[in-house]
Amino acid sequence: MSVLTALTQALTSGSVEVVDLTAPLSSETPLLELPPELGQTQRFELEEISRYDDRGPAWYWNNFRTGEHTGTHFDAPNHWVTGKDLADIDSVPVSAFVAPAVVLDVTQEVAKDPGFLIERQHLDAFQAEHGAFPEGGWLLCRTGWSARVTQEDMVNNTETGPTSPGMSAECARWVAEESPLQGIGVETVGTDAGAAHSFDPAFPCHSFLLGAGKYGLAQLQNLDRLPATGAVVVASPLRIVGGSGSPARVLALVER
Ligand code: MN
Repeated sequence: MSVLTALTQALTSGSVEVVDLTAPLSSETPLLELPPELGQTQRFELEEISRYDDRGPAWYWNNFRTGEHTGTHFDAPNHWVTGKDLADIDSVPVSAFVAPAVVLDVTQEVAKDPGFLIERQHLDAFQAEHGAFPEGGWLLCRTGWSARVTQEDMVNNTETGPTSPGMSAECARWVAEESPLQGIGVETVGTDAGAAHSFDPAFPCHSFLLGAGKYGLAQLQNLDRLPATGAVVVASPLRIVGGSGSPARVLALVER
């Protein structure tokens, strides 16, 4: 039997499940907040064109306005200055949109410390238990943060500023420069920790990964429904010419 025939039969029988890793996209979707003197990403907005009425008697449709980095989205290398001469979202090879994924679960650590940072030692321990990271794969960081659905809870401003989990600078450098991974996926509004403005370099996941031509996926959900290894992620951004990223429908294929 062909691989694709086997896959379609497995999808029909339910032995391969499609899991939606995408957050609902609406005007309520939380988004990154930068200091007020900087430009801000746009909240998602729908504008009704017609709804079976005088403006269009038989049809319903909308215009929408959104930031490229609003909601569940894909970061292209040119999003960061370190990757400014690398791929825009239109020229990311489509093979990157279908890739294996491993899931590192740090929900216990984040429950105790919302600013928890993933370090090299966590990646080493994961690989010792589950085997080497897949070539061209995603490292999905399961933190439990997707349970936070309001702007306030997602950004989690404390006396020290935004406080959310992420990755240390050295760990991000290793993923970018030494690992076989194509990128990381997170449950937070961006791939970096809330406090990453103060890291050296600032925003190391963006700086190192995008500078190495790798990618990011932000604001994922349902990572608790994925196995540690063996899932396949389908991440499908819009083909925005010259864009730095795009909202994406991100799915995982999981064997049951
Ligand atoms: Mn982004």
